[in-house]
Amino acid sequence: MILANQTPQAVEDTYDQPFQREQAVPQSPAQRRAVFVSDFDGTLARPDFYQLVRKHLVPRGTPDYWNEYRAGAMTHFDALKAFFAAAEGGESALLGMVDMMETPRDLSDHVHGLRALGWEIVIVSAGCSWYVQELLARAGVQLPVFANPGRIVDGRLIMERPADPAHSCWETGIDKAAVVRVFQQQTHTVAFAGDGVPDFDAARLVPAKYRFARSDLAAACREEGVPFRPFEQWTEVTAALSQERVC
Ligand SMILES: [Mg+2]
Repeated sequence: MILANQTPQAVEDTYDQPFQREQAVPQSPAQRRAVFVSDFDGTLARPDFYQLVRKHLVPRGTPDYWNEYRAGAMTHFDALKAFFAAAEGGESALLGMVDMMETPRDLSDHVHGLRALGWEIVIVSAGCSWYVQELLARAGVQLPVFANPGRIVDGRLIMERPADPAHSCWETGIDKAAVVRVFQQQTHTVAFAGDGVPDFDAARLVPAKYRFARSDLAAACREEGVPFRPFEQWTEVTAALSQERVC
């Protein structure tokens, strides 16, 4: 099985209800032949949740944690955690940011269409499972999610590091490359799509024909001479994968 026999704690943390886990695991061997590991913010959903929080909920005078991250003074994880913790307005304001994010229309149809062709979709995010799960639920989609756990405490979104060290790293919390490696050990074919520099180590692990990139990830691939398939909309990736023969 893709997940059930080697369920990392990071996944356990994102499955708050048992039925989600049961439905997230493919039901037949024919549906487990290939895995599409997808980044979330900027790849499946737009815009990035942290950008909305930073723009609308973080009070003036708050340090620019993103610049500190870019300067190497903070980890990616700590910068996002700091923005989320600084956000004002309580849970309703945070949910308002989720309202401003978009996922592909008919996402459920795309998920089921790929599953029928043998592809299981897995979400990896260096963001927080709190909003990832909220958006997927709104779209009526249940997918395995590897993201940093988070919860609302006294009106603040508190993001935490994953409990399982096998799928986490100091820089981003969830280690996307480690997640890709796990699925490469379990299945014949793994694809990856992403848009950010933190996606690079995961993206470089998969074959070029299964490596999809846009924005900063595309720039990083070009800089490093790593071939990739460009995309703008997530549905372009699902359309491309649906054309690939799954062994
Ligand atoms: Mg992203």
